[in-house]
Formats: sequence, structure tokens, C-alpha cells
Amino acid sequence: MQPINIALVGFGKIAQDQHLPAIQADPNYRLVAIADPHSALSGIPNFPSLEALLDNLPELDAIALCTPPQMRHYQACQALAAGKHVMLEKPPGATLSEVEDIKTRAIRAQRSLFASWHSRYAPAVGRAASWLAEHRVERVEIEWKEDVRYWHPGQTWLWEPGGMGVFDPGINALSIATAILPRPFFLREASLSIPENCQTPIAASLSFGDASGTPIQADFDFLQTGPQTWDIHADTSGGRMTLAQGGSQLSIDGDLKYEGEEREYPGLYERFAELIRTGRSDVDVTPLRHVADSFLNGRRRLVAPFSDHG
Ligand code: NAP
Repeated sequence: MQPINIALVGFGKIAQDQHLPAIQADPNYRLVAIADPHSALSGIPNFPSLEALLDNLPELDAIALCTPPQMRHYQACQALAAGKHVMLEKPPGATLSEVEDIKTRAIRAQRSLFASWHSRYAPAVGRAASWLAEHRVERVEIEWKEDVRYWHPGQTWLWEPGGMGVFDPGINALSIATAILPRPFFLREASLSIPENCQTPIAASLSFGDASGTPIQADFDFLQTGPQTWDIHADTSGGRMTLAQGGSQLSIDGDLKYEGEEREYPGLYERFAELIRTGRSDVDVTPLRHVADSFLNGRRRLVAPFSDHG
């Protein structure tokens, strides 16, 4: 089978840390170029923009968009108009309407569109979904707390409209919760803490419920120092299930039941190749909808200004 000629657009932290090694290790792909205004990779052509990439490499089959979300819609439209298959990093857009439009354009262009949610490919997520399908869920607590200064140094786009602030990692928790909980759930209340010099929250407390009234509480914090927390707990008829470390460990009543090898991005690229080879798309906006609901329905409170340097 011919490899898929793919280019990375936006060669920042996630493209370098995860996309590059996943593509290089996957025989489905040949990485043919990078487009980024400042970062480059030796050994292949580098372009300062997506426009220059599309003008110069007509043989390209697919593009992975790893830029900040504010430019996702514009770039996805350009790539689809040029006849390329498109993988969107999460979040798939800055707004829900943008993603609907990208989806419509992919159908019209007859190209595969993959709105990727990398956390859904964490190793224990499937097992957690199976556990929850077999037991009655009574209460859920989500804790997603990390140090923005360590994980996102200098990423000023996070604090601009569309950057989502603490929802940038928080949407990963929502992508897991929407995949593993047996019923849809809905935002009831939200409290958003917004630094007085920023446009987006640095912390959020969200209360959801499902149609049966199961309470689902989510707490996101971008100022956590010391141990970092990416955990989902569910009190169930079979005991307390904990999906810890971003979906890599599953415990029941404190006993570790499963810990798998981390291969989120290899999993994403396998899925993208499968979609391309079978002429399909995969676009689920549910996690983004919960973020939009939080911004629509949340109470805001101003908190101390944020500085990258503490
Ligand atoms: P980042 O480090 O800021 O990287 C973004 C890159 O895109 C930068 O190199 C930036 O260049 C480049 N860029 C900006 N405008 C561009 C344009 N018009 N054309 C091409 N490239 C452009 O951000 P990141 O952390 O990699 O995040 C990118 C996306 O991945 C976000 O949606 C994020 O939610 C998602 N993600 C991030 C992580 C993570 O841990 N960091 C994990 C999973 C998913 P300049 O810096 O020169 O502007």
C-alpha cells in the first residue's frame, strides 16, 4: 500500500513531542514537509505557512493541523479546498459553528476529516468504559489540575479569546468522560476564575448531571504545583473506580487493575489512516459543546493577574 504523504502544520510543542515520533514510527505515512513560521525540521522541506506548503507540494495527501485553535477553521478550509485529508488537533475549532462548517466542507470535498481527541486513546479508557457499562454509576468526580507554567510556557494564545485557558487541558477530561460514561450529561452550573489580565479561565468548577440525576463534578486548575492530577473517580455499585494519570491507570477501591503502555498518538495516526483508506470521517464535538456551555452558562469571577514567570 502506498504511504500517505502527510505534512505537519504548526511545529510547536505537541507536534514535536508527539506527532513527529508517531508519524515516523507508522509505515502508513511519509512525512513530507513542515509548515511553521519559525520552527523547522532538518531533512525535509519547511515552509513558513500553510499557503506556501500547498502551493509547493501538490503531491501532498494529508495535513495534521497542530496550530493553536484560533486558526483551525481557516487552515482546515484551505487544506480541504486543496483536496487534502485533514486531522484536527483538539479542540477541533474555536467555536462549534466552525467545526460544523469544516465538517460540511469535508463532505463536499470528499476528503476524510478526523477531529482527534488524544486522551480517548489512553490505554485504560476502554476498560473504564466497560466497567461503567456493567455497574450503576452513582457519582463522578473529575480532577484535572496541572501547572500551566511547566506544561505551556510562553503559550500566550491560551489566554486569548478562543484559547480556552484551563479548558485546553480540561477538554481532554471531558473527551474521556463523554466516551466512558454510559449516558449523556448536561451542564447545570459553572464557575470560571479569570485572571484580570486574561480573556480565558485559569480555573473552573463545573457541575453536570445526567437524565437520571447522577451528579458529575469537574474541577480544573491551571496553577497546580507539586504532583499533577488528571483523574476521574466514579462511585459505582461495584466500588469506586479511579481512572488516573490521564487515562493510563484503572483502579477499583484503590487496587490497581490495569496500567497500559502510553500510545495515544500512535493510536490517533492509526485511526486517521483507517479513515483515509476507507473514505470516512470521524468528528465528535461533544467535548467542545460542554466547553461552550460552560462559557455560555458560567458565573465569572476575576482573580489575580497571571504571569508566565510566577
Ligand atoms: P504551541 O507550542 O504554541 O505550538 C503551535 C505552533 O503553531 C507554534 O510553533 C506556532 O508558531 C505555530 N503557528 C502559529 N501560527 C501558525 C500558522 N499560521 N501556520 C503554521 N504554524 C503556526 O502549541 P501546542 O502546545 O503545540 O498546541 C497546539 C495544539 O495542540 C493546541 O490546539 C493544543 O490544545 C493541542 N495540544 C497540545 C498539547 C500540549 O501538551 N502542549 C497536548 C495535546 C494537544 P509560533 O510559536 O512562532 O507562533
